[in-house]
Amino acid sequence: MICVCWPESVGSLNWSFSVVFHTVKSSFRIFLFTCVVAGLFVSLHHASSDIATSSPRYSVLIVNARIIDGSGNPWYRGDIGIKDGRIVDIGRLERSEAGQVIDAGGQIVAPGFIDVHTHVESIYSLPEAENFVRMGVTSLVTGNCGTSATDVGKFLGQMKQKPIAVNLATLIAHGSVRRKVIGLDDRPPTPEELKQMEDVVEQAMKDGAVGLSTGLIYVPGTYAKTDEIVDLAKVVSRYGGLYATHMRSEEGKVAEAIKESIQVGEQAGLPVEISHFKISSKRLWGQSPMTIGLVREARARGLTVTVDQYAYTASSTSLDSRLPTWLRAGGLEAGKKRLADQTQRERVVKEMKEELKDRGFKDYSYAVVASYEPDPSFNGKSIAEITKQVRGKSDVKNQIDQIIAMYEAGGAGMVYHSMSEEDIGNIMREPFTMIASDSGVHQVDKSLPHPRGYGNNARVLGHYVRDLKVITLEDAIRKMTSLPAQTFGFHDRGLLRPGFAADLVIFDEKTINDLATFEKPHQFAAGISYVLVNGEAVYANGAMTTARPGMALKGSGSSVQVASVKSRN
Ligand SMILES: [Zn+2]
Repeated sequence: MICVCWPESVGSLNWSFSVVFHTVKSSFRIFLFTCVVAGLFVSLHHASSDIATSSPRYSVLIVNARIIDGSGNPWYRGDIGIKDGRIVDIGRLERSEAGQVIDAGGQIVAPGFIDVHTHVESIYSLPEAENFVRMGVTSLVTGNCGTSATDVGKFLGQMKQKPIAVNLATLIAHGSVRRKVIGLDDRPPTPEELKQMEDVVEQAMKDGAVGLSTGLIYVPGTYAKTDEIVDLAKVVSRYGGLYATHMRSEEGKVAEAIKESIQVGEQAGLPVEISHFKISSKRLWGQSPMTIGLVREARARGLTVTVDQYAYTASSTSLDSRLPTWLRAGGLEAGKKRLADQTQRERVVKEMKEELKDRGFKDYSYAVVASYEPDPSFNGKSIAEITKQVRGKSDVKNQIDQIIAMYEAGGAGMVYHSMSEEDIGNIMREPFTMIASDSGVHQVDKSLPHPRGYGNNARVLGHYVRDLKVITLEDAIRKMTSLPAQTFGFHDRGLLRPGFAADLVIFDEKTINDLATFEKPHQFAAGISYVLVNGEAVYANGAMTTARPGMALKGSGSSVQVASVKSRN
């Protein structure tokens, strides 16, 4: 149980100056009382005005902690002093003056988790980001999978008017830039269009984007050839950013897709981050040593390649991604026109049957609807179940017709049960794997989003660390803190060190657990006691506070002198 000593009422943002001596153990009480008296005596001995103007050594002091510092080192006991949003001291500090003392009660104190794979473009409408905070996340990287704001300066700038609870960084997304310049056409850019795309990317990097993302299964990202991506990645490289990719395939062509990702990094001269690394084809289950091997091989050649992963055997994306990319060129209306043509429709059905077979699934019972606006009663049911309900039969042809009908009605959000536990464990054990949720900001409503948005970090710490012992607690925390910070260039975060930003999470490693399920996803993680962002509590003893201390985390490009920057290639 965490004990928190507040100088004022709990949750108050206006902490008035108060010297609080916290008694860690009852045996200390007399000693500390003596210190208080002695302190007062010393203070009174000096000019009384000193008392009115001086401030405590720390704004927040966390005592009685088991510190896991984010480096992967084993925990140790200590206290952490915080002032002006930064960690000031770590050590035996329990007798120091502080505006607020938090007794961690022997629980784990770790750096706040950095979730490098999110989709939180809507964060300003849900600024508390409660689903993230309550699984210990204090920093988010958005703009993944090829979709981002194209005006990064404006996007991050909104934080001034609309403060948020967590820190925020963004990638500039290739798909959004391509859409802005070329639309949804399936063709290469003209030289002028490529120049325009480069200009948008360059401005985004100057405005603080941390890198370029692609979503190469999505429209319009899927229409880009490798050289187009390399050209844009070269711009990002000049500004010190990385390349984060939702690859062209996580299924039958996953090896080729990994090679393409690495090629972009090699030719453009920048680090590569492969998003939600997985094997999403039943036919290829057990092949993770091969895919991991490709990353290891690239690293052995001296290339910076890392991956991120969410801790579930099901993925979540659109229904549209089941349909061939050529069908979706130009948007929904163009797709509907093609489907009205019998020959083209037959080609769609044929290719979908082939895709299903190639992935090793006998039908679409692995595909479950998360949100379908025209008929919310579909939510939570598989395509096979819905087809049976709507059409009376559930053979593959009828299931494909049902998918097409739902696509024509505007599409659906889906959960795909397509991965194996063994592959997830193999990927998690790699030193270059980060833990990231691939989630948006959620509020409790009737939708059925992927539970990872509420439980991902807690699931790793509970299910994979404590129950399955796939990795150690210290390594899991490293994958959520210092590794993401190193990869994305957040040089003063991700470790508990004096001088570092005071983003911290306190949790009980015996009870931390994910409660969100596919059926009931809107359930917050258990076992998290306290979350601080830039030295301010955003979550304390079971409740969100009203604090909004989040900061924009900008890439090095925002401070780079263009003339002095040269590509590393
Ligand atoms: Zn993705």
